[in-house]
Amino acid sequence: MMRTPDTINFSGKRALVRVDFNVPLDKSFSITDDSRIRAALPTIKKILAGGGSVVLMSHLGRPLKKLKEDGSLDVQKFTLMHTVARTSELLGVPVQFVDDCIGEKAFHASSVLKAGEVLLLENLRFYKEEEKGDSAFAEKLAQHGHTYVNDAFGTAHRAHASTAIIAQFFPNDKCFGYLMAAELENAKKVMDNAVRPFTAVMGGAKVSDKILIIENLIGRADNIIIGGGMAYTFFKAMGGNIGNSLVEADKLDLALSLIEKAKAGNCRLLLPVDSVVGDKFEKDAATEIADNMSISDAWMGLDIGPKAQEEFCRVIRDSKTILWNGPMGVFEMEKFANGTRAVAQAIADATASGAYSLIGGGDSAAAVNQFGFAEKVSYVSTGGGALLEYFEGKELPGVAAILR
Ligand code: AMP
Repeated sequence: MMRTPDTINFSGKRALVRVDFNVPLDKSFSITDDSRIRAALPTIKKILAGGGSVVLMSHLGRPLKKLKEDGSLDVQKFTLMHTVARTSELLGVPVQFVDDCIGEKAFHASSVLKAGEVLLLENLRFYKEEEKGDSAFAEKLAQHGHTYVNDAFGTAHRAHASTAIIAQFFPNDKCFGYLMAAELENAKKVMDNAVRPFTAVMGGAKVSDKILIIENLIGRADNIIIGGGMAYTFFKAMGGNIGNSLVEADKLDLALSLIEKAKAGNCRLLLPVDSVVGDKFEKDAATEIADNMSISDAWMGLDIGPKAQEEFCRVIRDSKTILWNGPMGVFEMEKFANGTRAVAQAIADATASGAYSLIGGGDSAAAVNQFGFAEKVSYVSTGGGALLEYFEGKELPGVAAILR
């Protein structure tokens, strides 16, 4: 059985919980999307209800990459204090805050915590040791809790001090949080137990970001649908004229080898036969429909065309398992959003007829939310990079550390 908060007795214990409170902030440091905080609530509530107290730790942004001109930390910008009020409000419990994550003050704050109380530590990435995976730093952090809970799926692919290294100091007292457990269960359904036909829909800007995942899926999926900017590298490689469309000139051989590998692996690789092309990368661009082997000079493919849309949607509707990562076009601009919307609709339809659908994080998650399909698919992942690495077949350090 997977180690979750259900398998641990938190009564009288202090749980040190790694959460992902890396929320987007506006210029006045107000939270513009609190879904990451909401996603952590079930785990926190369970520990409190079980008679424990909670020490929360997280990162926010990349403070060491964005130092002030004088070389000092921009605490005002990167402090996790920005999340305290919203977390208290959503949790219904006041959240205490300490402006350091190690050091005397921080350890005092956690040591006096009573059952039912919650403390948030300051941004872990104020210390370079966090991202370096420093074990002395992890050992210090470990002093905050009797039990370690990792609920930060978004950073599960990083071997950082608080996400992986720290787990060794809790050999018998560690578990996944509910969000992590749900993410893993859903990913496993697709990776290990996909009901056929299994269709992977890959999109987005660059093929270079998706090479490993496509290679790994060739042995598993029945169909791999390619859309978005990365499709044009394939057409260029096949000798097509792609006009001004996005291309990775150094990935042409690779595109051809993926086509060959798919053939050899009995996996159907579907490329979009046509595109909605624009005369510029603007929302008010003039548009036409073009065959992807013969896009006129000066025009660029910015969405899949009607024929591609029809073919992709038919394959999706006939599928029993669907994994989607990356938009079919520049969905942020209405003129080029139709392909992505149609694919989202087809995935929702397939789901309504009993298929299982997993939507990858990042832009695909934004797209299903934007088009109102979030409730009509099986699961929308919160972790972009972590989910991709999982489907590349890599071991996620944050996951392995709990299983060990
Ligand atoms: P990714 O982060 O690789 O998933 O890429 C997502 C981005 O790719 C989105 O911002 C889309 O606007 C962009 N995109 C999708 N299709 C195209 C295209 N045909 N040309 C340029 N950008 C695209």
